[in-house]
Amino acid sequence: MKSPDQLQAVPARSSIRPAGAAAATLLVVSNRLPYDIGRGSGPKHRNVGGLVNALEPAFLSRGGTWFGWDGISLPNARAVEDALASPHAFRLPSGVDLCGVPLSERDVARYYNGLCNRSLWPILHDFTGKGVFDPDDWERYVRVNRRFADVVLARSRAGDRIWVHDFQLFLVPRFLREGGFRGRIDFFLHTPFPPSEIFRTIPWREEIVRGLLACDTAAFHIPRYRDNFAGAAAALVSATASPAGANSLDLTHAEGATRIAAEPIGIDVPAITSLAGSRPVQARARRIRAAYGERPIVFGAERLDYTKGILERLYGVERLLRLRPETIGSFVFVQVVVPSRHVVEEYRRMKRDIDREVGRINGEFGIDGWQPIHYGYRSLDRAELVAHYLAASVALVTPLRDGMNLVAAEFVASRIDGGGVLVLSEFAGISEVVDGAVLVNPNDVDALATAVSQALAMPADERRERMDRLRPRILSNSAQSWAGRCLGLGSPREAARPAGTTAVGADPWATA
Ligand code: UDP
Repeated sequence: MKSPDQLQAVPARSSIRPAGAAAATLLVVSNRLPYDIGRGSGPKHRNVGGLVNALEPAFLSRGGTWFGWDGISLPNARAVEDALASPHAFRLPSGVDLCGVPLSERDVARYYNGLCNRSLWPILHDFTGKGVFDPDDWERYVRVNRRFADVVLARSRAGDRIWVHDFQLFLVPRFLREGGFRGRIDFFLHTPFPPSEIFRTIPWREEIVRGLLACDTAAFHIPRYRDNFAGAAAALVSATASPAGANSLDLTHAEGATRIAAEPIGIDVPAITSLAGSRPVQARARRIRAAYGERPIVFGAERLDYTKGILERLYGVERLLRLRPETIGSFVFVQVVVPSRHVVEEYRRMKRDIDREVGRINGEFGIDGWQPIHYGYRSLDRAELVAHYLAASVALVTPLRDGMNLVAAEFVASRIDGGGVLVLSEFAGISEVVDGAVLVNPNDVDALATAVSQALAMPADERRERMDRLRPRILSNSAQSWAGRCLGLGSPREAARPAGTTAVGADPWATA
């Protein structure tokens, strides 16, 4: 993985393709680039999140161009027009180009904080009561999705392949088609897709479904999300589903056919396991354990988000301390919360609630220099995170709803020692693809308390036996192999495509 200062500028307005290159290119499109690339000042900070962490290793090994917001909020529409007229891009040493899509402050407020985070995010995670539906937000979402498509179209050639990511860009595939792109378009949804009756609460549900049906393939983490999408497409546009292989269905609809598939995302297995095996990281893990007095560490780390169940988890730990006073002083709960969406008032309120509850619980149960909860509001870098995974006796990964959850997978991959217990929410997508975790309903405070206590007291042979069941599935599903599977999906449209619009060599990226 390259640090931002290893990135190189590509001159503005220059083609970001290597001169004379004729080969088909993979064009990846996501809301945000992996690095914020400031105009003039060069690349700055790396964006933390499951999408970037999975996509970056998969993409860097294949090459191509990555399109996304560059992280700068421009003051007005005029500044956006200027930025579109003189696009800026950066080339990574690997040859991958990062191409910025400009957004204004108003775009960020209405498209990103509005429609994406206040409407789509809660509904996709089954939080129907939290969805806010403002037509002005939707209008901005449409406009920004069209802008993404236009920027990509300006740099695409016949034979290129476009891979669109996540719920911020549901309409991009349709706009690419409307703009004349006839080649292959694939989509991956990084969130859950909810049951049809929940999805249909979104006022613009049909436009969203039609956006995805413009793709050759649309992939989801698990079969349930795929089938939920099939249900919504049947209800909204009368699409009919037929089996198309082990993990796939073909949806036939008014404008053709789209393959939908379940392909659970993977993690950067080589990077995680090599960090876990490195001396500095192992030494750091020992220091972390020593810092907490060699008491067993229960560890949690996630972005600030109501879907992650952080408050509920605090109440679970409190419940354990209250019901089983003999556990007071016997373990520590280390919780890292990564700052996220802090401009949204609800997230700021959540942060205040967490701060208050940590203080209250520590105030009530702390004794003799010991306190139950050690809480950090910051992001750990990869090495520090792996050191914490290694130092922990228990990983407490209890989202109320999560598309997949990479923290759980990274914890398991890090445990090259075969130790550690994973306490996992039943409502994380990953719970449906692995076996060996202690499963828990994160809304049930008693079940949380019991699960933590069971994990802390678990005999060594059971811990090892559970880890032995967890590890093969995680280790065999690297981000690289996930990308290969997604890009290797067959397309029911491919046969109908005119010559010259299909990627040269069919699937040069589809290698596991
Ligand atoms: N992460 C990190 N530093 C932290 C906590 C988390 O870099 O302090 C990373 C973690 O390695 C993981 C990602 O953030 O790859 C979170 O992905 P996940 O799918 O669990 O959740 P998301 O944030 O995408 O909803």
